[in-house]
Amino acid sequence: MMTTRRHPLLVIVALGFLALTGACSHTDRAQQQVQHGDNNAPGDTIIVQPDSCVTKDGIPAGAQKLIKAYPEMTISYEDNHIIVNGERIPYDDGKKKSFVELLDNSDVEDMFAMAYDITVPQPAYLSDAGRSRCEALFKAMYGHSEAEVARHLVTVDWFGQKLKFTSINGAYRQLKNVEQELQGNTALRSYFAQSSTFYWRKVRGAKRQSAHSYGMTIDINAASSDYWQWANPRKGELDKISYKNRIPMEIVKAFEKHGFIWGGRWYHFDTMHFEYRPELLP
Ligand SMILES: [Zn+2]
Repeated sequence: MMTTRRHPLLVIVALGFLALTGACSHTDRAQQQVQHGDNNAPGDTIIVQPDSCVTKDGIPAGAQKLIKAYPEMTISYEDNHIIVNGERIPYDDGKKKSFVELLDNSDVEDMFAMAYDITVPQPAYLSDAGRSRCEALFKAMYGHSEAEVARHLVTVDWFGQKLKFTSINGAYRQLKNVEQELQGNTALRSYFAQSSTFYWRKVRGAKRQSAHSYGMTIDINAASSDYWQWANPRKGELDKISYKNRIPMEIVKAFEKHGFIWGGRWYHFDTMHFEYRPELLP
């Protein structure tokens, strides 16, 4: 990630967002869109999950989504902790965070602060659902080290290419399901050339681990893809940027049908990127 150039107004805007989402007790549960920005332009909103703080039987909505989305994994919730494979991970650290901190230091609750909205043609300002990842959670699920993640990787035939993908949570089966969906449309083949998956690394320019580290993420052909920093050189995380995408929605819909989120639905778009995150899909 690039160094952020902080525009004073945008910092205030971001802090306003935090006042509403930083702690459950301060959130207006009925509020779905937080208006902010200087002119209240229609795209100038952060989508907040309407039920991100609602609890059922004392279990927060985000925890319920995780339990439901990963039936092959032993996940439970107890006393502000998610328990994954026997590891206790704090659910809500109670800290108020800036937008950048939501990315760099996400707890489990923060992962649900932004809604993954499949109804809008372009992502709203700072709407990046899925870029917040609680590292402890993903390590507990997929492995704490390169070697541990690698032990769970299987080879998947993806349009003739042999790719490594994790068997955990049945993610490799879902990738095959996506291939099945798109197999019949040969006009789309070029989009899948030179796909890449597992790579244990940090996000460019950041300290946090890339989603590619866990074996449940695929980048399709970069040659037909767009990335926010390529299209908006010298822009930072809080700057207004222009959107660009060349990936057909038929591909996006096939991935989403099988539990993957798409980086093209992020304000900070990464249109080659698909990540197995069924907990965020409607
Ligand atoms: Zn990627």
